[in-house]
Amino acid sequence: MKKDAAILVVGGAGYIGSHTVRQLVAAGRKVVVLDNLVYGHADALVDDAVIFIEGDLGDRAVLDRVFTDHAISAVMHFAAYAYVGESVTDPAKYYGNNLAAPIVLLDAMRDHGVEVFIFSSTCATYGNPQYVPIDEQHPQNPINPYGASKLMLERVLADYSHAYGLKYAALRYFNAAGCSLDGLIGEDHNPETHLIPLVLEAAAGVREHITVFGTDYPTPDGSCIRDYIHVNDLARAHILAIDRLRGGADSFKCNLGTGIGHSVKELISAAERVTGKSIKVVLGERREGDPPELVAAPALAKELLGWEAEYKDLEMILKTAWAWISGPHKGHF
Ligand code: UDP
Repeated sequence: MKKDAAILVVGGAGYIGSHTVRQLVAAGRKVVVLDNLVYGHADALVDDAVIFIEGDLGDRAVLDRVFTDHAISAVMHFAAYAYVGESVTDPAKYYGNNLAAPIVLLDAMRDHGVEVFIFSSTCATYGNPQYVPIDEQHPQNPINPYGASKLMLERVLADYSHAYGLKYAALRYFNAAGCSLDGLIGEDHNPETHLIPLVLEAAAGVREHITVFGTDYPTPDGSCIRDYIHVNDLARAHILAIDRLRGGADSFKCNLGTGIGHSVKELISAAERVTGKSIKVVLGERREGDPPELVAAPALAKELLGWEAEYKDLEMILKTAWAWISGPHKGHF
């Protein structure tokens, strides 16, 4: 590794990428961000030390310039499209951006001698769970093009690792949640489809109500159960993963979750407690493609990375999200 080598964070202006960039900078790492700003926000890059390049991860000319101009020792890749419904209606967009484009990135890495790659994979690669909590041995049968595109890239990584010596970590996130503790950056999707921002925007009066998608699931209160993992916990795991691979460990794949499930209804009640507001709830139909329960078995991440979630309390997670949504930066008030 070159002495002052930087970590290239692709998609560093997005939700999870920008939180990871802040942690990298706080840990004294040099960071170069590549982001096309389609879904990312330039103002999510709050540290002056970060070198920002606007460009696309599938653009080989841009990549050659990045790898030539900067001493890059490792790449973190966050720049995926993640709207499950859209992936069903426009799969070309998902296979193009989530599969074909990162292959261009991997080829550029290989040609420039960069070997370490951290990939944002997802529990959506498992498909409908056959059992919970879901461990890494669970069969991977994604039920939509989004999950399929992520699984296919996992397979590409395994083959590149075998053939070209790539060292990679595929980190399978459960439900990313929460925001930075100072409320400076946070979750800002457009359109927003995720439960926590929608619930909190209903609490803030920005939305009229929250709809519970399905109340007849085989769960204790009939609503879906998810494993909400704080974005700062996710970010920390990425840094540990880079350090593990640089230390000579083999490539690996592991879940990142708390191991604790919360139902949609529980989450809405917790949001009312955290915000002190009452939230109007509409009981709605199931959303297509939602498994009843997704909860991680997180033991492997602990074994490999010494990592476990610090934010195990849902109210704590919601407090950080509320700090962002009700604070001056998001601009709702
Ligand atoms: N959900 C809901 N109402 C909404 C948005 C989401 O009831 O307006 C539910 C959704 O069915 C799922 C959970 O909240 O069970 C989390 O959904 P989200 O879209 O945040 O993440 P996903 O689990 O799809 O990755």
